[in-house]
Amino acid sequence: MDKQVPMAGHDHMAAAGADSAKDPVCGMTVDILTATARDLTAQHEGTTYYFCGRGCKLDFGEDPGTYLDPSYAPSM
Ligand SMILES: [Zn+2]
Repeated sequence: MDKQVPMAGHDHMAAAGADSAKDPVCGMTVDILTATARDLTAQHEGTTYYFCGRGCKLDFGEDPGTYLDPSYAPSM
């Protein structure tokens, strides 16, 4: 009965980045509330993505697979 089980393994992530996401097209950090308010979001395979502007959202919408490929390197 002296064995302790950790509650959660990702507490270190709670403080930073909780309200921001990465634009998959250009790699910018995007504020989730701002992107949502401006309709700069897109759903793809059950995940919501956030964008810095309409251009990135449109680019992503045309070909999501390109930007979600692990070998894709975002550039501004
Ligand atoms: Zn962008």
